[in-house]
Amino acid sequence: MAKYDYLVVGAGLYGAVFAYEAKKNGKSVLVIDKRDHIAGNIYTENRSGINVHVYGAHIFHTSNKEVWNYVQRFAEFNRYTNSPVAKYKDELYNMPFNMNTFSRMWNITTPAEAKAIIEEQKKEITGEPKNLEEQAISLVGRDIYEKLVKCYTEKQWGRDCKDLPPFIIKRLPVRFTYDNNYFNDLYQGIPMGGYTQMVEKMLEGIEVKLGVDYLADKSAYDELADTVVYTGAVDAYFDYCYGNLEYRSVRFETEELDTDNFQGNAVVNYNDKDHPWTRIIEHKHFEFGTQPTTIISKEYSAEWKPGDEPYYPVNDEKNGALYAKYKELADKEDKVIFGGRLGEYKYYDMDKVIVAVLDKVKEVFGKVSEC
Ligand code: UDP
Repeated sequence: MAKYDYLVVGAGLYGAVFAYEAKKNGKSVLVIDKRDHIAGNIYTENRSGINVHVYGAHIFHTSNKEVWNYVQRFAEFNRYTNSPVAKYKDELYNMPFNMNTFSRMWNITTPAEAKAIIEEQKKEITGEPKNLEEQAISLVGRDIYEKLVKCYTEKQWGRDCKDLPPFIIKRLPVRFTYDNNYFNDLYQGIPMGGYTQMVEKMLEGIEVKLGVDYLADKSAYDELADTVVYTGAVDAYFDYCYGNLEYRSVRFETEELDTDNFQGNAVVNYNDKDHPWTRIIEHKHFEFGTQPTTIISKEYSAEWKPGDEPYYPVNDEKNGALYAKYKELADKEDKVIFGGRLGEYKYYDMDKVIVAVLDKVKEVFGKVSEC
């Protein structure tokens, strides 16, 4: 008899929600994580009164009412609306692509003028866009592509825009209104007090062991439970038997500055070649902080290599084909559920992670728990 019904590997969002639901269903659960903290990449840490998004900016947004209602169980969300500013040399543009951006770019004022310019510029693309470059030009024209997309994207992904899939840029809204909201979703906000508190609440009353490397002693851990929920990298689980999937990793240079307001916005993108970082996050602005000092993180993107933290799956054709092979192996592991951004090799937003885990919960337990 195994000691637990479930061993959850990874105390991030997928693992914590699954563990919460398993407990609600009367199951015994052990959660382990190789890091020394819970919450995975949404981990926030309070420094000088500011909740620092240690693994990069996380803004919760969704149009899914079930998901929005669900997260309210664990946190109260503030009214933060993401509206990044993009810096190209000494020019500042509002993001996402909207009338403020177009007006600044072309010195125009009306939607008709903006549309006419984009229509003209996108003529160079004929047929379905085959890559990110073609997709971007057909959405916003070449001027914006050159200043606000090309270099930022190549810094972030370390690949030519012609070698990246179109869907990455389709994440961003294009609007012919003066609306700087980065998302189209109905609901948006930051959990007041930080994401770590939210995940703590999910894991309340559940046994959690930190600093534990599951893959280093896999068979011993497997014996502890009837079912394993694995949220680590799927290729690592199979010991990279088909070779490794590609990921982008991110490195942050974080510092506290002796000013109450460094850049006036939570997110400023650096879209030119002159700066090696992709963006600077000023954490206090996520929660409208009024502390006397500020904490900023410069974000540098890098190709993942063994030993680094994987952040973004590179969902291009080559990796898609390789993932399909790992997925075949994963489907044969009937004692193991693979989930989350790394377990499913998917560029999931947080709300989509919750949709995925709640779907799994419905499949396994028949329903999602009542509040
Ligand atoms: N992007 C861009 N310029 C920007 C911001 C984003 O070209 O100023 C493109 C870039 O290709 C990026 C994609 O849009 O990979 C998605 O950006 P998003 O902000 O959604 O990425 P995340 O926040 O997940 O890093």
